[in-house]
Amino acid sequence: MKRPRLGQHFLIDFGVIDRIISRFAARAGEGVVEIGPGRGALTEPLIDSGVHVIAIERDAGLADALRRRFSPKQLEVLTADVLTTDWTALAARAGTRLRVIGNLPYQISTPLLLQLFEAREQLADMLFMLQREVADRLSAEPGSPKRSRLSVHLRRVFACEPVLDVPPQAFAPPPKVHSSVIALHPRADMIEVGDERVFAELVTLAFATRRKTLKNALGDRLTPADFEACGCNPQARAQELSVEQFACLARRATGQ
Ligand code: SAM
Repeated sequence: MKRPRLGQHFLIDFGVIDRIISRFAARAGEGVVEIGPGRGALTEPLIDSGVHVIAIERDAGLADALRRRFSPKQLEVLTADVLTTDWTALAARAGTRLRVIGNLPYQISTPLLLQLFEAREQLADMLFMLQREVADRLSAEPGSPKRSRLSVHLRRVFACEPVLDVPPQAFAPPPKVHSSVIALHPRADMIEVGDERVFAELVTLAFATRRKTLKNALGDRLTPADFEACGCNPQARAQELSVEQFACLARRATGQ
């Protein structure tokens, strides 16, 4: 039985499945974790390529069916809400940084991405199917109205590459929205922000009042000289700033 509460839209388009699996290009010995394996559309080809998969599935019935279908050598299924995952413990158990893949349940994609951002030290890379609107927000460049707090945080640490747009007919049942696959991997040039907490506060404040100018939104924390030193127009709005400019403002806010 399909359970809409769990965002169960199963991939049925083999062309899409092939492109996701070849792009992920997992190899034996890697710490591969799949979020929401469902009926195994991605799990099976991953296993066929000789990879051991740890899968996290909330639906106990689907989790049991996968356990019956594959041997423990091929697949370990954790019946759990992925939002309760201890990523540090999982990486320790895998003995390596994790490669995470998933056709995500869309209703939890934002909290999940924020959680994975916190767990970034444990992650090698990620490949996700997301609601297209969320994927667009993540890949939005400075100046785009789609830019968000999440995109600034994630893109400070991860490079974000759009991989594939996927129409609703690729799933059964089809979702009401279009989807996109994106790849996230750690940036070689991660931007230094000084105090992480201050950076997070400034980004949150600027986007919480995104209609306000930077001067009005952040004027209590920063001087006109700070904006100038970071190349920011005080009349601009949050979505116009690059990650580098937010990082510069955070360093200035702590006197660095
Ligand atoms: N990977 C399969 C596919 O591509 O056909 C299923 C993808 S379906 C969009 C999302 C899957 O995530 C479902 O199997 C659903 O039961 C599972 N799921 C939903 N919420 C979850 C949660 N909080 N934690 C773990 N799995 C969850």
